[in-house]
Amino acid sequence: MKLAVIGTGYVGLVTGTIFAELGNDVITVDIDKEKIRKLKEEGVIPIYEPGLEELVHRNAKDGRLTFTTNTGEAVRASDIIFIAVGTPSDKDGQADLQYVRAVAEEIGKHMNGSKVIVNKSTVPVGTGDIVHDIIRKYYDGEFEVVSNPEFLREGSAVQDCLHPDRVVIGSTNNGRAKSIIQELYKPLDCPIIFTDVKSAEMIKYASNSFLAASISFMNSVANICERVGADVEMVSEGMRYDKRIGKHAFVSAGAGYGGSCFPKDVKALIRIATLAKYDFSILKAVEEVNESQKQSVVDKLRSLVGDIRGKRIGVWGLAFKPKTDDMRDAVSLVVLEELTQEGAEIVAFDPVAETECAKHFPNVEYVKSAYDAVENVDVVLLLTEWDEFCQIDLAKVKSLMKSPKMVDGRNVFSPEKMRSLGFEYVSIGR
Ligand code: NAD
Repeated sequence: MKLAVIGTGYVGLVTGTIFAELGNDVITVDIDKEKIRKLKEEGVIPIYEPGLEELVHRNAKDGRLTFTTNTGEAVRASDIIFIAVGTPSDKDGQADLQYVRAVAEEIGKHMNGSKVIVNKSTVPVGTGDIVHDIIRKYYDGEFEVVSNPEFLREGSAVQDCLHPDRVVIGSTNNGRAKSIIQELYKPLDCPIIFTDVKSAEMIKYASNSFLAASISFMNSVANICERVGADVEMVSEGMRYDKRIGKHAFVSAGAGYGGSCFPKDVKALIRIATLAKYDFSILKAVEEVNESQKQSVVDKLRSLVGDIRGKRIGVWGLAFKPKTDDMRDAVSLVVLEELTQEGAEIVAFDPVAETECAKHFPNVEYVKSAYDAVENVDVVLLLTEWDEFCQIDLAKVKSLMKSPKMVDGRNVFSPEKMRSLGFEYVSIGR
């Protein structure tokens, strides 16, 4: 099939590449000229995503995957057009649809035959109609708008796209778009859920908000565990054996959720509810708990070192989760802001997110290894559970530090082991 994917970010580049890998001709489009130039001329992948580089290079070399800034050309050459641009929060927490609208305008202007427009961006209920109406302003021929929300996780996006738990296709019942998109996904051999467009749009928000809710729920349980002397890791393990909760449930306690999806999608669903005159009080609480959880990490630091002013603090991990360089709404942004405001001297290490973080905090000292980040520090703070931190030589870490103190915001280490090594160690809910 001939596909255009408009928006070459985490979602657009990965899904476009996977569709090419499955044998389709894919043109990925972006307005960011430098991003497209680097992809096209130098093969430089703009994001860190395990396994992506090799796939992009192979499919580009074989001519199935091409890159352009020319939306019109891509639209005219394609039968299926994916919209995969960003939908960040606006000042009210609502999803900002300016990029989606702009793309719909461009599509409308360049329609030259019957096509299926697929909305992959996470968008409020009713956006399918908005996109349809914009295109209709410019084109009176046949076309259909389908909702196909994306569930990939950064850090395992390639695997998630190749082996999705499910694919959701929201379309009008009588449309032929449904069977075209079903055919496109056929090689993946996964469950395909057919819904109307609005329900598909809601499935994405409901899924992300539910996952965020389970994190905030467990962080609340962790806070109680700390007060009553229980261990939240044992509690969550015990819960996972309940099949109604499940072994992959998001019931690990930590420093709070971040990233480009949960924070904005929780906000957007609260806003959708408000506009529909429903008070989504549970989801508001999810957000509040998450904000205070980020704050609790700084409180834990204070409990170990007292006044933060003038303290040298080593930070392990900056990205919102391991295996990504994405810093959008990362917990580290809030924590670093507060620590720098309070006059701490920060030395930080992340395997891939340094460049992104430096855009926000140019005055932090960035170093090249986890060991460099603990040299002569008063305390180390772990914010992202990269594998290399889990496997670190703790005796060496201790020998490098001014004083062996650690706040573990992701419960990576065993409290018993840390204490036996002589660390003053604080984690979450244990
Ligand atoms: P992103 O910011 O990484 O990429 C968006 C890209 O769109 C950017 O490169 C931008 O330059 C480009 N763009 C903006 N306007 C354009 C235009 N008019 N024409 C062409 N390109 C344009 O965003 P993302 O993380 O890939 O997210 C895209 C959508 O997918 C969002 O709605 C998001 O909520 C959703 N989503 C994201 C993830 C994730 O893990 N990142 C997962 C599932 C769903």
